[in-house]
Amino acid sequence: MRFETLAVHAGHRIDPATGSVAPPIYLSTTFARDPESVPIGGHTYIRESNPAQEQLEDALSPLEGGEAALVFASGMAAGIALLQALPPGSHVLFPDDVYYGFRAAAGEVLPNWGIRSDFVAMGDLAALAAAIRPETRLVWLETPSNPLLNVVDLAGAAALARQAGALVAVDNTFATPVLQRPIEHGADVVLHSTTKYLGGHSDVQGGALVFARRDPLWERVGHLRHILGAVAAPFNDWLVLRGVRTLACRMAAQSTGALAVARALETLPAVSVVHYPGLPSHPGHEIARRQMSGFGAMLSFRVAGGREAALEAVGRARLFTRATSLGGVESLIEHRATSEGPGSRTPPELIRVSIGLEHPDDLIEDLAQALGGS
Ligand SMILES: *Cc1c(COP(=O)(O)O)cnc(C)c1O
Repeated sequence: MRFETLAVHAGHRIDPATGSVAPPIYLSTTFARDPESVPIGGHTYIRESNPAQEQLEDALSPLEGGEAALVFASGMAAGIALLQALPPGSHVLFPDDVYYGFRAAAGEVLPNWGIRSDFVAMGDLAALAAAIRPETRLVWLETPSNPLLNVVDLAGAAALARQAGALVAVDNTFATPVLQRPIEHGADVVLHSTTKYLGGHSDVQGGALVFARRDPLWERVGHLRHILGAVAAPFNDWLVLRGVRTLACRMAAQSTGALAVARALETLPAVSVVHYPGLPSHPGHEIARRQMSGFGAMLSFRVAGGREAALEAVGRARLFTRATSLGGVESLIEHRATSEGPGSRTPPELIRVSIGLEHPDDLIEDLAQALGGS
């Protein structure tokens, strides 16, 4: 089955109780057993498993080409559950531009769990090879990365990790399975903040892990979710599933729009660099072409006039909403270093935009007027 068809049909079932075509939302926290004490519908208590969670997981795993999925209350909760499954004494390698929440967790929390970590420029495979230690259990990749849109060679990095006996996790939030399927390139686990494109409408928070295999790692992480409780509410799982049904066409349109915006930004004198993997000027363009079927709807750019000029341009945006996050139908703009706050490693003249479903020419006109005065 082709991806667009899977996105609509994966995990879909007609509700046996009512014939409902749209999925029902069962809010029940507890589930009945028969006289022999066997759970009637296979569920017992909401934190362990529930119908909405199960249906979303059944939809997500085939989209990434995995055998199993686990969904969570947020993208951070999903990533942290994976890290919690590592034995004390493990070493983890993160990209040097990993999503800032995981950088914070690596500094503030993982040491308490006996997990050490280092940060590597994953675009440089020799640097990755040199950083792997005998106790490295997990290599964490994020491509394209946030907010610089750096691209990592997934197959190359996964091969190095595998040789060393380490697992490979890929944060695929920016690309989504529409454009990139890391398991096909050797990943063991794929992470999503479903708050972004999978939900797609800036109105639900969630996270997901998709596992290449239905193996002891999947079982362990599922057990940890059950006992530690990072589960999503049924209504949130329902909203994410609703988003998934339109993911393929949203991503295709938003990605096409982003390419048009990136090309236009490259021609503006106020812009010194555009970070978008779809541009031939991007250092990761060739790798992105090999491992992605489109370049995504996130891009960032640097304002020639520096930090103040970047802040002023953001302030002049009319159509773009000044807000953090990404992946919704409305375009967003932010001065990224301000959003990340103290400790941010983002260049101060950098503006990040999330391209929505508006006509790209309207977005280009807005950016041109916003940058024109700077
Ligand atoms: C937003 C985001 C996360 C964290 O997800 P939440 O749902 O906000 O917890 C992780 N990785 C990337 C790339 C993200 O954009």
